[in-house]
Amino acid sequence: MFDLSGRVALVTGASSGIGLASARALGQQGAKVYLNGRNAERLEAAAADLGRQGLQVVALPFDVSDIEASCHSVDQILQREGRLDICFANAGIQHRATLEEFPLADFERVLHVNLSAQWALGRHVAHAMKQQGHGRLIYTGSITALLGKQGVSAYSLSKGALHTMVKQWAAELGSGGVTVNAVAPGYVRTELTRALHEDSSFETWLQQRCPLQRWGAPEDIAPAIVFLASDEARFVTGHVLVVDGGLSAVM
Ligand code: NAD
Repeated sequence: MFDLSGRVALVTGASSGIGLASARALGQQGAKVYLNGRNAERLEAAAADLGRQGLQVVALPFDVSDIEASCHSVDQILQREGRLDICFANAGIQHRATLEEFPLADFERVLHVNLSAQWALGRHVAHAMKQQGHGRLIYTGSITALLGKQGVSAYSLSKGALHTMVKQWAAELGSGGVTVNAVAPGYVRTELTRALHEDSSFETWLQQRCPLQRWGAPEDIAPAIVFLASDEARFVTGHVLVVDGGLSAVM
């Protein structure tokens, strides 16, 4: 089960955190994985590391906020491989500020990277997937789209829109053999949450609030990506899979 041999995957935001762990897990299941990130040097280092572990990986640097560059990179994969089976559209950014102090420019920047760029890249990929009659589109949502949280008003809105998008796209793409799903991680210890790592009051809150009483690790999220990418998830579409240590299940 969960064998991905012969599958071609693209993972955006793959030089660190959830993207890197998921790229590794997809590779371990046999997929050839294109790793995307903005920093070519960092990406090459990550790809070389996975390559040394015997995984088939290719570094593909581009900035997802540059929609033309993103679509061109997808076309490069299609030209080289003749197919793209799995797209884990995971790149995302955060900007923390109270609602009253939130600059409109930062609101628009977060919405562009986390939503518009994801929509445009996914739409381009979906077109190719429909033509090949098979595809797995997977997005990274968030539990901040399910439960209110102070200081993340642009981020939570962008993720909420992705949660809605996977349902709408499931309706549009199902007949083409393409499934569209999201994972909604809880608090995962990555660069994105660095501001919270050193906050001892947050640490205490998380321990009390989360039934499993700890931060998630990127490796806690990666198996969910493998599942959604696999043939075994063939009847799962339009779903948001929450992976949060139970945080959103309790009061
Ligand atoms: P991370 O900072 O390690 O990973 C984010 C990656 O996206 C980085 O590699 C970054 O370089 C890349 N990225 C950002 N903008 C990009 C762009 N324009 N083009 C290409 N790459 C870009 O943090 P992470 O926690 O692994 O984040 C991955 C995803 O998980 C994000 O979408 C984030 O919103 C989501 N998420 C994280 C948490 C958490 O607690 N860490 C919780 C819920 C959702």
